[in-house]
Amino acid sequence: QQPFLSVRDLKVHFSTEDGIVKAVDGLTFDLTKGKTLGIVGESGSGKSVTNLTILGLHDRERTAIEGEIVLDGKDLLTATERELERLRGNKMAMIFQDALASLSPYHTIGKQIGETYRKHTGASKKEARDRAIEMLRRVGIPQPDVRVDDYPHQFSGGMRQRAMIAMALVCDPELLIADEPTTALDVTVQAQIMDLLKDLQQEFGTAIIFITHDLGVIADIADDVLVMYGGRCVERGTKEEVLRDPQHPYTVGLMSSMPSLDGPVDVPLEPIPGSPPSLLNPPTGCRFHPRCAFADKVEDGLCSSKQPSLEVVKGRGSACHLPPQQRPELFADFAGSR
Ligand code: SF4
Ligand code: MG
Repeated sequence: QQPFLSVRDLKVHFSTEDGIVKAVDGLTFDLTKGKTLGIVGESGSGKSVTNLTILGLHDRERTAIEGEIVLDGKDLLTATERELERLRGNKMAMIFQDALASLSPYHTIGKQIGETYRKHTGASKKEARDRAIEMLRRVGIPQPDVRVDDYPHQFSGGMRQRAMIAMALVCDPELLIADEPTTALDVTVQAQIMDLLKDLQQEFGTAIIFITHDLGVIADIADDVLVMYGGRCVERGTKEEVLRDPQHPYTVGLMSSMPSLDGPVDVPLEPIPGSPPSLLNPPTGCRFHPRCAFADKVEDGLCSSKQPSLEVVKGRGSACHLPPQQRPELFADFAGSR
């Protein structure tokens, strides 16, 4: 099956007062219709920048982009601003962590959902209102025909998140980019929103990119996983492969800092020591080497001198100099020591 979205060797570099920030530095992936790709990484790993670039929402003056982004046969990097605007909302849409930032406080929920619909379909005001009510019903807002006239501040946090999803999906986009949409919500509402997205995907066959720093969320929603570190992909594969048998030390570190669903609840979580790399002056060699618990297991100081490329190991990609046959034992010892 032809990928619906194809990203090839994407590089996104910004110029800042202090120099060039290499926010994304050679990223490749595909996404098929009806599937969910989970992109996981700490803040500053390049996951949000990747998606703003797909949507064409980056600052064109300050950004140098290389590579290829093709959505359903259309090259997005050569598309005009007008074309992108037509695609946004219609063919691709985005939901964010902060619904208040994407909803205007000055207009009713119904008006905002309806206007998005009118802009792309030329529907009448009456049709747009009906459509807004239908969408609110679909995302599980009670009494949608009444709540359609509410302002965002009259909605609870979870309801605003649903309203934002309704607005994003009002034109049946084929690609939905969800950037940490549930992070600010409590666990129950979070689970409801995830179920809602899964249902909507089933119904419409939407392709979803789900950005998160939480592997638990990935385990719940993704088909495929892409793990980013310092602007690069360090591991990618199916969710089952990556979560059951990670091949990269960074993924191993993320997993050991995640609460296990069936494990004892009182084990303290250990975040990976150190902080994400500067993308202004990234570390030499493997960008993870200053934080990696395995760098001393690789000979000749290779980790700090040579950037590992993404190689296929056990049917999926990982970028690490550790010999594949040594990984299972090393990773098991590491997990056992925590
Ligand atoms: Fe760690 Fe070296 Fe592998 Fe990088 S290449 S993840 S530093 S072992
Ligand atoms: Mg982000």
